[in-house]
Amino acid sequence: MEQEVKQNYIEAGLVVQKAREKAREVAVPGTNLGVIAEEIENLIRDEGLEPAFPVNLSINDQAAHYSPGINEDRVLERSDVLKIDIGARKDGYIADTALTINHSGEHSEMIDAAEDVLAKALEFIEPGKTVGELGTFIQNQVSEEYNVVRNLTGHYIEQYTQHAGVSIPNIANASNHVIQEGDAFAVEPFLTTGSGKIKNGKKGNIYIRQKGKVRGRAERNLLKKIEKFQGLPFSSRWLEMGPRERIALKKLVSADAVKHYPVLKEVEEGTVVQAEHTILVGVDDGDNIVTTRP
Ligand code: MN
Ligand code: MN
Repeated sequence: MEQEVKQNYIEAGLVVQKAREKAREVAVPGTNLGVIAEEIENLIRDEGLEPAFPVNLSINDQAAHYSPGINEDRVLERSDVLKIDIGARKDGYIADTALTINHSGEHSEMIDAAEDVLAKALEFIEPGKTVGELGTFIQNQVSEEYNVVRNLTGHYIEQYTQHAGVSIPNIANASNHVIQEGDAFAVEPFLTTGSGKIKNGKKGNIYIRQKGKVRGRAERNLLKKIEKFQGLPFSSRWLEMGPRERIALKKLVSADAVKHYPVLKEVEEGTVVQAEHTILVGVDDGDNIVTTRP
């Protein structure tokens, strides 16, 4: 792997490590979710990088893809099980990481279990192993008390591409894809008290550019603003929209020029926890570097 590429991944990783600390600091009961997201995103910008995607703040049976909107009114509660998913990019190279917090203390075991599964998976990874073997290993680390979410996966990462084709399932699977030195990917087990399946819920304020074309001036101007996200997911909060632009955004969505992501929810409304790190395989004298972990 090129030295410069490696350094970019490492630098993005160091910034999200700081962002994880900030997340633990600001995600306290009584705080508006919009404040939590912006404090974390602003830390990334203050460090000279850009968020790779809007901070996801998904609560309880929401597994992923909720990010606060422009006029967010949800306040974090003590009982909430909050997944904080954070990404930063340096020259398009992405560090993707997530943690789960709960201030009631009632979900600590499940949160620790997810972190433990992730830590063991990161140890298991080495060049020559297949994605199928990794999935089987991950599934075997999960105790019978919990179900692993079967239809959410980790993913390979490429420059300006958060989900780069090859998925990293958290269950036994038939993938013969061989893990190689220099590979960059995110490992992210999700555990739940539910049945272990995710479905689409309401829309969650996260968008991404699609190929659809539009003609109106307001829509084209808004698309120009959207180009600066380089094809990565973005938040409506990042667009500084007036009333006309809000209508334009809706038109972009109906024209498939922009996709509006639904929140992902557990089908049985089970509580979901997540742990995630990004890894560079075998590039430090044969050792793995977990870019998002000290
Ligand atoms: Mn993530
Ligand atoms: Mn990820």
